[in-house]
This record gives sequence, C-alpha cells and structure tokens, in this order.
Amino acid sequence: MPELPEVESVVRSLRDGCPSLIGARVRSVNLVWPGVVSSTSDCFDEELLEGCRFASIGRVGKFLLFGLKNSRGRSLCLAVHLRMTGRLFLVPEREAVERHTRLALMLDDGLALRFDDPRKFGRVWLIDDPSAVTGGMGPDALAVGFEEFASRLTRYRRQIKPLLLDQSFVAGIGNIYADESLYRAGIHPCTISADLAPDAVRRLHAAIATVLSEAVEAQGANIDGVFKAGSFVVSVYGREGASCRICGTAISKIRVGQRGTHFCGHCQNNCSTSTT
Ligand SMILES: [Zn+2]
Repeated sequence: MPELPEVESVVRSLRDGCPSLIGARVRSVNLVWPGVVSSTSDCFDEELLEGCRFASIGRVGKFLLFGLKNSRGRSLCLAVHLRMTGRLFLVPEREAVERHTRLALMLDDGLALRFDDPRKFGRVWLIDDPSAVTGGMGPDALAVGFEEFASRLTRYRRQIKPLLLDQSFVAGIGNIYADESLYRAGIHPCTISADLAPDAVRRLHAAIATVLSEAVEAQGANIDGVFKAGSFVVSVYGREGASCRICGTAISKIRVGQRGTHFCGHCQNNCSTSTT
C-alpha cells in the first residue's frame, strides 16, 4: 500500500518528469468507473474539468493534490488517494484506457493522465478547497517539526504504533514506515505514547524524518510489487524470523491495534520509557 514516500514519488514524477503535467490542459474526461469519485467530493463535473490547466502538484500525507485553473481563472483541486493499488500515469493518449483504468483525463498535447486501480479502493475528489479532504489530518510526517511533534504526542495516551498510523496525529505514515521508524528509534511498538522519555521522543522524531527521507530518495519500498521502482531496503517490515541486522535476534511479528507489527525484541526493548 502506497505511503508518504511512494506518493511523493508519484508527485515528483508527474511534476518534474519530462513531459511534466504542469501547464497541461484537460481536453476531455473519460470517467470509466463512476465509483472512483468519492461520495464526499463536492462535485465531479466533467464539463468543469474540461479546459482546466494543471497549475500545481502537491501532497499532504497520502493525498495527491492537483491544483487546477479553468479558463475563467477559477481554482479547483483534484485530490487523489491511491489507497491499496491505485496508480497514476502520464501516457500517450492511445494508451489512455487499459483493463483497470478508472479515470482518464485527455490532455492537449497527445498525452493522458490515467488512474488505474485493480482493487477499486482508490478515490478522487473535485473540490474548491483542499481542506475538504485534508482538514481533519495532522501535519505532514515529513514536514512536522520537533516541537509540534512532541507537543502533539503529549495529548495522547495510546500505544505508539497505532498512534503513528492515525492520520489525525501525523499524516502519511502507514504500516511499513511506522515499523521502520520505531525500529530505527529503538522503541517497542506497544509503548504508551505518554510514557516516552524526552530522549525517546527526540529519537522517534529524527527516525521518522530519516526513514521517510531515505525512502523518498529511494522512490519508496518494493514490498507489495505495486511500486516496483522503489529501492528502499526495509529492516523489520515483512522480515519476521529473519535476523536483526544490528544484533542478530530474530525479528518478531505481533498484532498491535489490529495490524501486523514487526520489531526486534532486543533493540526495541522498552528501556527508553520514562519510569516517572
Ligand atoms: Zn536487534
């Protein structure tokens, strides 16, 4: 499932690639499967989209946000959540629709923006204000500063692993990078957030920033075969039974908050919790 680094890779490839989506104009819209439009979308009017130009491409958490301008200067936002298996491609128009295509935007210059999603969990929104989808979310996990992170952490008394997955706490972290960040910080995934000592909070904030940055540079992880270009090497996620690369202990897998959770029982042994 794509998380922040994989979504950031999509943003960069569409924005900075050659050709770039920036400046491209939507000539026509092919809504192949209407169910791809979220029920919470303000509107999804093909006529409203036609003629719009892509002015910006950004991301908050796992949401892709395409800033659009129509010929009358009206600003709109096309928001996309890839969920499990969604993918976005810029392709020649003759390749605009394939077997799993749910939406295709035909562009002026012989190209098309194609949204494929075999499992159909991905959604799109056409909205006036991006906060309609990002409003309930915490700060982006790659951008959140230490003070804000530490201050938000004190508001919760929850196991740290499920808290990291809660998009209203910080946005963008999923199961892979939660496990990797806690391993890098040497924190047991069941630790209660409010019990983390100040030095552990600092280590966790630094670990999240480092792990996500490394994964963005590597264009994500190649775990489930969805993002095959990714080359981020995981340390614990999916490695149950294999040796910890630091201490040699077998990596454990347990369930925490209904999610499979991987950790090293030696390197993440809770010595970092406060006793007060
Ligand atoms: Zn270890």
